[in-house]
Amino acid sequence: MPRPIEALVHRSALAHNLACARAAAPGARLFAVVKANAYGHGIERAYDGLRGADGFALLDLAEAERVRALGWRGPVLLLEGAFEPRDLETCSRLALWHTVHCAEQIDWLATHKCERPQRVFLKLNSGMNRLGFSPTAFRSAWARLDALPQVDEITLMTHFSDADGARGIAQALAVFEDAARDLPGERTLANSAAILRHRRPQVAADWVRAGIMSYGGSPDFPEHASSHWGLRPAMTLRSRLIAVQPLERGDRIGYGSTFTAQERMRIGIVACGYADGYPRHCASGTPVLVDGVATGTVGRVSMDMLAVDLGPVPHAGLGSEVTLWGEGPRGSRLPIDEVAHAAGTIGYELMCALAPRVPVQAVD
Ligand SMILES: *Cc1c(COP(=O)(O)O)cnc(C)c1O
Repeated sequence: MPRPIEALVHRSALAHNLACARAAAPGARLFAVVKANAYGHGIERAYDGLRGADGFALLDLAEAERVRALGWRGPVLLLEGAFEPRDLETCSRLALWHTVHCAEQIDWLATHKCERPQRVFLKLNSGMNRLGFSPTAFRSAWARLDALPQVDEITLMTHFSDADGARGIAQALAVFEDAARDLPGERTLANSAAILRHRRPQVAADWVRAGIMSYGGSPDFPEHASSHWGLRPAMTLRSRLIAVQPLERGDRIGYGSTFTAQERMRIGIVACGYADGYPRHCASGTPVLVDGVATGTVGRVSMDMLAVDLGPVPHAGLGSEVTLWGEGPRGSRLPIDEVAHAAGTIGYELMCALAPRVPVQAVD
């Protein structure tokens, strides 16, 4: 028997979450963001659930190739654009739209020989200071692109640094609107947090880029849980108990003996550890479901195992089902954001870190 751990990718949840994005950004066209192998879900596995999108956005050229190999003939956007001049040949061959965020990328385009002009997304740095032209350089970059025979349409793009938090987007939006004021072309501004939290026509124009929400993660946990946004988990990580340990008061558990039983208790040992992508840096008490019942981890997570308190589930035993995140038995659910929060990280990181050794099944 293989080790009992497995992950599930729920196609219907992906489709449902895309519908939530559409409802929150009515009138906009929708990129499903599938970078990082569809946030760890697997591009091929997620494709059926996400193909209702108007386009796919990602940043790795090999991943773009995989989207085309699935038969997708619609838009594919490279969020970081070309990394070197010859990437533009791949853009031509695969008909990719690509981001232009720096002057060098315009130089490469100017010397690129292409049969058909390319659609580019000109990126403004609206305050995140990661990628993009400064507000003062934006308009001259636009004029340079506009003069190139290699360039077809120019879409105006920015990315918010604070759409998920208290700072908000007002300042970045003002920077964008000023830099873009009378330039023609479509716009794309919003990630999941902006789609859900900042429902204004200028934010939702003309293309929105739904990443984490497509996978059922909340972009602003713990302020809002995924259930608040009506999202459903697209990934379940589940395993089973492979041992049960009765502890007496004073007994300890796991490496470093960081947990000491204050009373008699039953502990379940789960076939899941950090080598499966479960976060090692989570405190005792990190939420977990055993047979669909909420309980918590105890002690340190090790490479292949972790321990859970069976107090709330006295009937659990060897082979009992354990839900690390996602959908549990009998309608139970454990949002990945809660586990991430207990580990001092975000749901994005846990999804992306699902380890290659975990078998994954796509289900409806
Ligand atoms: C990753 C990414 C997104 C999606 O962000 P989420 O927070 O996952 O919705 C959107 N736009 C750009 C440029 C990105 O890199």
